[in-house]
Amino acid sequence: MDFDSNIYLLTGENPILVDAGTGMHHREILKWLSYSVKKNKIERIVLTHRHYDHTGGVAALAKELGAEVLIHHEDAGPVRDGDSRQTLAYMFGDSSQPVDVTELHGGEVLSTGSSNFEVIFSPGHTAGSLSLWEKDKKVLISGDTVFVGGVGRWDLPSGNFEQLRGSVQRLLSLAPQEIYPGHGDFCQSGAQQTISEALKYLGES
Ligand SMILES: [Zn+2]
Ligand SMILES: [Zn+2]
Repeated sequence: MDFDSNIYLLTGENPILVDAGTGMHHREILKWLSYSVKKNKIERIVLTHRHYDHTGGVAALAKELGAEVLIHHEDAGPVRDGDSRQTLAYMFGDSSQPVDVTELHGGEVLSTGSSNFEVIFSPGHTAGSLSLWEKDKKVLISGDTVFVGGVGRWDLPSGNFEQLRGSVQRLLSLAPQEIYPGHGDFCQSGAQQTISEALKYLGES
C-alpha cells in the first residue's frame, strides 16, 4: 500500500517542488528529479499542509537538495517541531523529523521564472492548508482541499467543515482549467466543473 502524496515539480529557471511524500520513496524521487533538473537547482519546497503523507520526506529532501521549505503559518509549528500527532505520522507508524521552515501567509507570488504561482490560503482540511494558483495558465495545485471527484477530510486535527467549504468555493471562483490535487488523478481541462461537482459533497448545489 502506498500512501505518498503526489509530488509536483514546477519547472522554470527556478524550479519549485510541491510536497515531499512520506519519504519512503526518497531514492526514487531523487532519481526522478535528476532526470528533470540539476540537483542544486531546486531551492524551494512548498508544502501544501502539515500531514505526514506530504511532509514525511521533506527533511531528507531539503537536506539533499539544499532547499528552503515553505509552509503556511498555521501548519508551520507541527512540521517545525516534528509533532507526530499533529502531522499524523503516528498513524503511519512513523515519527516526524523536525525541519526548519519559512512561513507563508497567503498572497505571496512564487515565481519559477516561467510561471507565477500565487499562494492561496485554503484552510479546512487542516488549519494551514494552502493551494497554488497560476492565474495566466489557469492552473491550480489544490493539495488535499479538493480532488478530482471529491473533497478533503475535515475531521482530522485542526480540520474544519465550514472553512473547507469556504475554501472550495474560493478555489471554484478562480475558474481554473487544470487542477493538480494532493492525491489521485489530475485534470487538464474542465477543472472548474470538477470542483463544482466536488462541492456537492459539502452540501452545495
Ligand atoms: Zn494527503
Ligand atoms: Zn492531508
